[in-house]
Amino acid sequence: MRRPLVVANWKMNGNLADNRKLLQSFLASWQGVHHAEVGICPPAVYLPQAIELLGQTNVELGAQDVSAAENGAFTGEVSAAMLADIGCQFALVGHSERREYHAESDQLVARKFKAAQSHKLTPILCIGESLQQREAGETLMVVGEQLKAVIDEVGRAAIASSVIAYEPVWAIGTGLTATPEQAQEVHAFIREQLGAVGNSVRILYGGSVKPSNAAELFSQADIDGALVGGASLNSDDFYSICQAAE
Ligand code: PEP
Repeated sequence: MRRPLVVANWKMNGNLADNRKLLQSFLASWQGVHHAEVGICPPAVYLPQAIELLGQTNVELGAQDVSAAENGAFTGEVSAAMLADIGCQFALVGHSERREYHAESDQLVARKFKAAQSHKLTPILCIGESLQQREAGETLMVVGEQLKAVIDEVGRAAIASSVIAYEPVWAIGTGLTATPEQAQEVHAFIREQLGAVGNSVRILYGGSVKPSNAAELFSQADIDGALVGGASLNSDDFYSICQAAE
């Protein structure tokens, strides 16, 4: 039985005052979430603030990205060791905005995945096709290649302790959501590619998840939760999505 997981990706939003309001408001209602695991990815600079505000709750903390390098002359990068050092439990790798605006290749993403695991951070590997690729019927091929790069780097067994987020690029921040059937098809394909470890890996859906569509997405057999961007910036909406995962 895979425990549902809902992760907030704040992207490059927030400031000290707004973050405090958002987290305090979420924590005020959060006792209603018992079964689902919940994680938050604030911008890196606000991770220490989030650690302090989350205190003894079991809301987990993650980074939106991690360096593939161990340490050294990599200006602007944040290493997996540093994230683990301050108390992060996981890190997103390969978010489509990193792939698109920072030209991250499948191979670089695979090395980031490995770097995260080597410091006991759970990588959340983001994969997904563009609209053009979907319309060309290439969805499964693209997702399969993105996944294969990581399998080649770390092997299937290492993926067992990670999380995968299927995020169709055309659905991220656009208000368009994959239908539950479209998402389920890709999730089932991803699980199949993982072979023997497939059944234990949690596969999240991401792409304009909101309170009105969360429950239907989560009712699909292979959708184990969500990676939530825009709706995670509203504490009531994020709480409703967490509840739908219960
Ligand atoms: C995301 O950034 O991972 C995401 C899914 O964003 P949104 O929910 O805004 O589409």
